Amino acid sequence: MDGIEVPAAAARVSRLSYATGLTQDAASVGTVEHLLAALVGLGVDNVSVELDQAEVPIMDGSAASFVYLVHEAGIKQLNKPRRFLKVVRPISLSRGDKRIAVYPSDHFKVTYSISFDHPLLRHQSRTQRLTEGSFIEEIAPARTFCFLKEVEQLRQKGLALGGSLDNAIVLGETGILNNGLRFDDEFVRHKILDVVGDLALVGHPIIGHVVAHRGGHALHASFAQQILEDSEAWRLVEYPAEPVEAGLSDSVGVGRAVLPVQ
Ligand SMILES: [Zn+2]
Repeated sequence: MDGIEVPAAAARVSRLSYATGLTQDAASVGTVEHLLAALVGLGVDNVSVELDQAEVPIMDGSAASFVYLVHEAGIKQLNKPRRFLKVVRPISLSRGDKRIAVYPSDHFKVTYSISFDHPLLRHQSRTQRLTEGSFIEEIAPARTFCFLKEVEQLRQKGLALGGSLDNAIVLGETGILNNGLRFDDEFVRHKILDVVGDLALVGHPIIGHVVAHRGGHALHASFAQQILEDSEAWRLVEYPAEPVEAGLSDSVGVGRAVLPVQ
């Protein structure tokens, strides 16, 4: 759209239903969360994404393809220290039975729990410390999921038009329609992927323990905005000038950019 740039920032969040969208002037882009999660997970903080459509491709419903493509392109270490948002006081948000909070921690960690009225995912909970390695192995391959009865509603809204068993786990009444799961708790792992991607919108890698229960994109995105507004609850620290044993990358405290496509 005539080269309009849409900042990946909490203040730009627009559409929120089954995915997270961003808007700048006349341009909108949907389903940014899995791509943003891959970039955060790989420690990339400088990147420009070019799109020729209004939605980031869903790929297989996970972030694995984006991880692969970033690795293929290569990552360049920059000459500047990375600035982390280090949580020093708890911040929390709840809406009905949905809750999300972030607590001080020496690492970036996410605890997520979900419960649905479905035999396969009545309750799942997982705590994941996020390093580059654990993101790639444990979180990036986890696919999004949807309920068969919702697919028709999504189509009516013009969403998930390409939706199929190739890009989501589809849950029928009693089981899944796909050929198996990638992890026993793939559903809650995907929720961790989503919250990592949505909290990318704070604009800095987070040092803190995120705890979420039954959240979704709307809650995650509001929380990203709330974190930014509650500036007493965090400070920006540079690594390694102010050493913290943390950060997404196991070893790197400097900024990283994806190399341009040749
Ligand atoms: Zn997702």
